[in-house]
Amino acid sequence: MIVMKFGGTSVESAEAIKRVSKIVSSRLKQSPVVVVSAMARVTDQLVGMGHKAAAGDCEASLELLRALRERHLQTAADLLGPKRSASLTPKLEAFFSEMNDFLRGLAAVRELTPRGSDYLLSFGELLSSLIVADAFAIRGLKSAWVDSRECLVTDSTHTRAVPKMAETRERCKKKIVPIVSKKRIVVMGGFIASTVEGVPTTLGRGGSDYSAAVVGAALDARRIEIWTDVEGMMTTDPRLCPDARTIKRISFNEAAELAYFGAKVLHPATLLPAIHQNIPVYVLNSRNLRSTGTQITARAPRSQDVFRAITAKTGISIVNVVASRGIMVHGFLRSVFEALDRHSTSVDIVAISEVSMSFTMETKRLPKALLTEMEQIADVTCEDRQAIICLVGEDIHGKPGIAASVFNTIAEAEVNIRMISQGASEINISFVVKESDVPRAVRRLHEHFFPAKGPALSLQRTERQGRGTRGVNGAHRTNAAAAKKASRSSSGNSKSLVAEKKAGIRPGLNL
Ligand code: ADP
Ligand code: ASP
Ligand code: MG
Repeated sequence: MIVMKFGGTSVESAEAIKRVSKIVSSRLKQSPVVVVSAMARVTDQLVGMGHKAAAGDCEASLELLRALRERHLQTAADLLGPKRSASLTPKLEAFFSEMNDFLRGLAAVRELTPRGSDYLLSFGELLSSLIVADAFAIRGLKSAWVDSRECLVTDSTHTRAVPKMAETRERCKKKIVPIVSKKRIVVMGGFIASTVEGVPTTLGRGGSDYSAAVVGAALDARRIEIWTDVEGMMTTDPRLCPDARTIKRISFNEAAELAYFGAKVLHPATLLPAIHQNIPVYVLNSRNLRSTGTQITARAPRSQDVFRAITAKTGISIVNVVASRGIMVHGFLRSVFEALDRHSTSVDIVAISEVSMSFTMETKRLPKALLTEMEQIADVTCEDRQAIICLVGEDIHGKPGIAASVFNTIAEAEVNIRMISQGASEINISFVVKESDVPRAVRRLHEHFFPAKGPALSLQRTERQGRGTRGVNGAHRTNAAAAKKASRSSSGNSKSLVAEKKAGIRPGLNL
């Protein structure tokens, strides 16, 4: 059995869904289970509808709903023809009617809770999966639609629920295996699940990848295929840098690091279930039927390049917490960490000294109550519109000169670095810059570490190039000194120690 996941752009239109049918036909012998996202942009539109209704603008939200209905009915008609689409339409209409009732109710109460949001957003995947299942059937593929809410069981952390693997495994075995053993193709929506009590939940934006991996792990699939709109995992986001190249092979650890630090092509938690059961994951291009894409496995051959890839995560805030004068230094850090824990906040990069701490986290996840609480014990300042740039590669382990080369390149691009981190595992070097500096910094780094022509940049060349040039933030240093200093200091305190605190930030999975 294999799991094939198709993202929003891969099911965005009748044409795209026809391509999906062809791709799935080529895998029939491997007993595919198909997981689909909502059609492209639909989840954003559902979010928009929810906001409009909650703001009391019922008519505007229903107007958006009408457009959504039109698009889905038209796609179904284009794919299925009048007869078959007539039999599907009542099922689609039942969903639109539920959404209509919900939006009206929302406009009356004017409050969209996380639970309500999950309910509303779940319709995107319910609609697309119903259409895809019928599109397969009319093309001679024996298919069966399965309601993901009856298969994936999560906790009740609405908007980013955590799968409960034991229950999910049991449900998937019961609901999916009998269908697959009759040689039928299961089609189900990604992203959506439900609590044990049956309340709809979602796995967080971009979560269909994660659904596919969870289903793959639950069914002990032989492989998990993530079909998307690019040729695989690439050396950086091709939208930022058109010279980005496809990575043929990459390890679980490297790919997980890239996904966590902003490579949107994979939801950050996708690889957890795959790693746990050592299931290979492939990232493939649904616009290219012969795509070979990227293979993600426990180990990957050494890269010819210094790094495997560069990624950037925007929407980051830096929070600086400095012990107020007169407050006992002893216990300061403990109080800060306890406050973080009480608010279940997860941070990315941390820089610490005796009397101050700076940390980064996603701006949208920064609770106001946390800042208020910290203000009781410290002076707190917050800077938003920051980004983390991360260079990932297992082969950088134990090689001197690499950090210096990175920071020299950034200095040459005249980009200021705000915080720096290199974890003890040495699989990545990450640092914080202003969001607006991301395109310039990433392009320059990509040019340097993945030159378009000629052989891949060797480490020797990296070291030579970096020597004696300007260091981080414009200071003149030798490479080794700059690198050492860079990986130890941040926020201007010479005694500061940079630590990477990633435990707890990755969505937990009860495997
Ligand atoms: P889907 O709808 O198929 O889930 P996404 O939009 O979520 O697709 O992810 C694919 C997008 O991820 C690509 O179009 C690309 O712009 C972006 N992306 C960011 N970083 C990378 C990377 N390193 N490799 C490939 N794609 C990336
Ligand atoms: N449709 C959801 C989203 O847009 C999930 C996904 O596409 O993976 O976030
Ligand atoms: Mg995605």
